[in-house]
Amino acid sequence: MSEPSTRRPDRIRAIGLLSGGLDSTLAARVLLEQGLEVIGLHYSTGFCMNDHRRAMARPEEDPKRMRNEGLRAGADLGIPIEVLDAGEAYLKMVLNPKHGYGAKANPCIDCRIFMIHGAAGYMREHGGHFVFTGEVLGQRPMSQHMQALRLIEKECGIEGYLLRPLSAKHLPPTLPEQLGWVDREKLLGISGRSRKEQMAWSTTWGISDYPQPAGGCCYLADENFARRFHDKRLHTEPEQIRREEMILLKVGRHFRLSPRVKIIVARDQCENQFLSRFDLPGWRFEALDCGSPLTVVEGEPDEDLKILIASITARYSDRRHEPLVEVAARKDGVEERHLVPPVADQVLDRFRL
Ligand code: SF4
Repeated sequence: MSEPSTRRPDRIRAIGLLSGGLDSTLAARVLLEQGLEVIGLHYSTGFCMNDHRRAMARPEEDPKRMRNEGLRAGADLGIPIEVLDAGEAYLKMVLNPKHGYGAKANPCIDCRIFMIHGAAGYMREHGGHFVFTGEVLGQRPMSQHMQALRLIEKECGIEGYLLRPLSAKHLPPTLPEQLGWVDREKLLGISGRSRKEQMAWSTTWGISDYPQPAGGCCYLADENFARRFHDKRLHTEPEQIRREEMILLKVGRHFRLSPRVKIIVARDQCENQFLSRFDLPGWRFEALDCGSPLTVVEGEPDEDLKILIASITARYSDRRHEPLVEVAARKDGVEERHLVPPVADQVLDRFRL
């Protein structure tokens, strides 16, 4: 694949990753200030918290927390945004990252390589001149130290054509700078974990509507999700894990009952509806004649485990204070009934993921 032309074009087109967070928004803004044409790429990975909130559509949810931040930021900046589905290839990378995981289930280096590699392909196909990101030197321990930034650029195959406008003054000049496409003097020299400088620039440019960095936006970096994710990897061959199984890790209470059997217990009506939309092959448990969670089962439980699953379902039903609760177990048109006491919390905690 050929690199973009080095001839001075009439109009410089920069292709950037735009999550909609403050850093990527500022990076785009820095280039817009220089009169460049900017196109934003927003990846839908399947692990974005806002996308999940939108899918759950809880009535009490703040609409701001459900919007697509990439599209919102694009509208605020006045630039076009392409939303790209990262698809199965992303899942494959997440399940087997070449550079490993961070503290949770976050394969940040491979994730950056995946996205920037995609942006490089987009640049080549759409007459772009270089790729930019909102990365800040030293901000994130795994993917934003000097060595990682170099590695990411190298593995994406666009050495020299990857600009980080927020930290550019701490990094060697890129080709767009050397060729005069971008004025290095007008790029920024931000580094480290403090966000003071970004805040100051956002005030200067009147950027006030962006998700709070501390709020978290990626399930892969979430502690609870990571526990379930690594449990799934431990008990299932990575190549057999399907995309829907990853979606289910975001919903409900999870309990590992045996190496082969795991259950998910919905936490409210929205999760009941969400789980019932999935065409899952296993048993489903529900307490009868009361408000009940839907409990879905992965794997084939024996009779003892069925009693335990019924007791757990009873524990989270509206009849949890009664001595015995009737619970239905259904699969493939077969229905069984179990009359069980709700399980004690100290027993439950042994299985919780
Ligand atoms: S936090 Fe999530 S989206 Fe961000 S780089 Fe890491 S894996 Fe990718």
